[in-house]
Amino acid sequence: MSEISPARARVFAFDLGSFKAAALLDAADVRDNFASAFAAGQPQAAVDELAASNFIDRHRYEHCFIPTLIDTGSQKVLFDTGCGDEGSSILDCLHDLGLGPDDIDVVVITHGHPDHIGGLVRNGEPVFKRARHIFGAAEFAFWTEGDAVRPARLANRDLFRRICAGLAERATFIAPGDEVVPGITAVDAAGHSPGLLAFLVESDGKRLLIWSDAFLHYAVSIQHPEWHADFDDDRDRAVETRKRLLKMAAEQRLLVAGHHMPFPGLGYVGQADGSFRWIPVSYQLNV
Ligand SMILES: [Zn+2]
Repeated sequence: MSEISPARARVFAFDLGSFKAAALLDAADVRDNFASAFAAGQPQAAVDELAASNFIDRHRYEHCFIPTLIDTGSQKVLFDTGCGDEGSSILDCLHDLGLGPDDIDVVVITHGHPDHIGGLVRNGEPVFKRARHIFGAAEFAFWTEGDAVRPARLANRDLFRRICAGLAERATFIAPGDEVVPGITAVDAAGHSPGLLAFLVESDGKRLLIWSDAFLHYAVSIQHPEWHADFDDDRDRAVETRKRLLKMAAEQRLLVAGHHMPFPGLGYVGQADGSFRWIPVSYQLNV
């Protein structure tokens, strides 16, 4: 992954009720093959039209990687750990906030893909040494026990086993509906990966939906939740999940944190004429 330039903002901190929150830009990649990544099987004309109407390139796109930090006042909870390679900036982002890896109390893994688990270990040692680690039980079982891993994800399975198997003894395993810490609850988001978890964070009436990778592109996945993304493991279920989460976010007017939305990855879901749109944060969190 490409390193974040020091001149580029990489931390976006905000208050959520009495909680403190921050979006941490671990990495940002510019990639080709927009259509095959997010719109497999769709006519090129439809993809071109969507790109043009959103003023974005129809071939190249930026893919951001944005873990979320929530400080409840008593516990610092980190959602995902970034890519963990040379270009990974998550520890620099924490440093910008005056924090080191030993300040993290809880690490939550939304799912087992490399850009989420990569920062868990370095040189075979856990990076967040003091932290309780939380995995979705279904996701952990899928990678460690499963024979259902598709060929394109076999290297991912081996990576997961290498990184995560040794963390099991310090881990807690949860299911949708379970509480991580008071104010943070897991939400079923399966599809992109078999046990993907989203999280609803609530403090003093302010709410944030961390939807992780249920949505991979801020325009395509939201305006066309039914289009299949190449990165989704169970494509039909991913579509069902996107439709459910879009309805939830729009009806409840939730603030959303999306791991792969454009930095800071924060926004709202607007609904008009039967379709949805990503509305990036402007000054809502400052007033
Ligand atoms: Zn991801």
